[in-house]
Amino acid sequence: MAVVVLKTLDADETVRLGSELGRRLRPGDVVALYGDLGAGKTTFVKGIARGMGVAEEARSPTFTLIHEHPGEPPLYHIDLYRLAGAQEAEALGVEEYVYGEGVTVIEWADRMEELLPAERLDIELRVTGETEREMALRCGSERTAKIVEEVAKNAVIGD
Ligand code: ADP
Ligand code: MG
Repeated sequence: MAVVVLKTLDADETVRLGSELGRRLRPGDVVALYGDLGAGKTTFVKGIARGMGVAEEARSPTFTLIHEHPGEPPLYHIDLYRLAGAQEAEALGVEEYVYGEGVTVIEWADRMEELLPAERLDIELRVTGETEREMALRCGSERTAKIVEEVAKNAVIGD
């Protein structure tokens, strides 16, 4: 499986990188994000939303774990930080989103590992400096591999 490692030097670059990915995502795509608190997952999702052209502010109360951004296709932003385990994820109905027609992006995806489809893009974010982040992108399909190749080509880092 292809792994591409990219680096951003500040939050804006992470948003831009997310946006480059977001504009290439298609209905049914699943992006699984991993990494500690403050690694930049939510910042990256903000970029994905921007790239997809959906509303950045989700129309859902802050306490929900699933944020729906209406659009064509819609973005389902799932944040499992407050989740205890996969059973709870199942109870939330996450599978309906993951196997649905929207784009699904999941923070703390390791908390629903058993429910993740094989065809997905895994992105692990790591803090490597005060405002520096490293992202390892692992492609679960030929399609995502192609997308990641394009995103890497368009990533202007440190400009
Ligand atoms: P997470 O969702 O992984 O907990 P957030 O995106 O909510 O992380 O927070 C990341 C924090 O780190 C934000 O305050 C952001 O401004 C800051 N930050 C600094 N440098 C970066 C970077 N290169 N990429 C993303 N966020 C960064
Ligand atoms: Mg977050």
